[in-house]
Amino acid sequence: MVENEGQGRVALVTGGNRGIGAACAAALVADGQRVAVASRGGEAPEGMFGVRLDVTSVESVEKAFAEVEAELGPVDIVVSNAGIVKDTLLLTMSEDAFRDVVDTNLLGAYRVAKRAARGMLRRRYGRLVFISSVVGLSGQPGQANYAASKAGLVGFARSLARELAPRNITANIVAPGPIRTDMTDSLTDAQRELLVASVPGKRMGEPEEVAAAVAFLASERAGYITGAVLPVDGGVGMGH
Ligand code: NDP
Repeated sequence: MVENEGQGRVALVTGGNRGIGAACAAALVADGQRVAVASRGGEAPEGMFGVRLDVTSVESVEKAFAEVEAELGPVDIVVSNAGIVKDTLLLTMSEDAFRDVVDTNLLGAYRVAKRAARGMLRRRYGRLVFISSVVGLSGQPGQANYAASKAGLVGFARSLARELAPRNITANIVAPGPIRTDMTDSLTDAQRELLVASVPGKRMGEPEEVAAAVAFLASERAGYITGAVLPVDGGVGMGH
């Protein structure tokens, strides 16, 4: 039997100020968790604790965790959601564009998970949820940097799953398909139509639909699930 369900564990969501991250923060609050919304601006919706965190800086990660621990207590749940795109075809993709995307999406997740694992290992409890992408499994023209960073998250999280399981810490991946956020709003109508055409249900997903999966993997009920890649993609990636 699961004990403690709904007792309010402390959760930190990176990039929690908007899009999928904001929906994850709201879903965790609805589940009774105490949520710190980490963002580069440090703002948070009503009822949540806001903290400034840039995942590209180890000092910023350290400072943010210290603030959350002082305000809410030890962090038991991390949703590693912060991510960027710098799309272009290979021959025009600069090293900087490749490095920046990997630095935020993959190294950022490493910095946050490493800091979180310190306390989780001591307390013998933790839930790490990484937001990857269907593109990390399928590839996508113009997104070699992004897809590489998102595929890297799978190997990273699965390694952590093996390493940390003996201490009751799970590490799982959620792989969204096209979701309606600022990230996809910046696409042209033609690009969006092409994306939607690849979805069996012919619609984009909503951030809340990703958040529901994240909140489940972050809950105590999901204690025997680790190293999983859970697609929330309307069926785009079936077979991957
Ligand atoms: P948005 O562009 O709406 O939000 C991105 C979030 O990441 C923002 O909160 C942003 O903060 C934050 N962020 C970016 N860089 C950093 C940084 N260096 N440090 C801290 N926070 C940072 O994107 P989505 O909500 O759509 O995406 C969220 C995640 O889901 C990303 O990892 C994305 O790759 C992934 N995803 C999205 C899909 C989609 O279709 N939308 C599909 C598959 C995966 P700020 O406000 O400061 O810029």
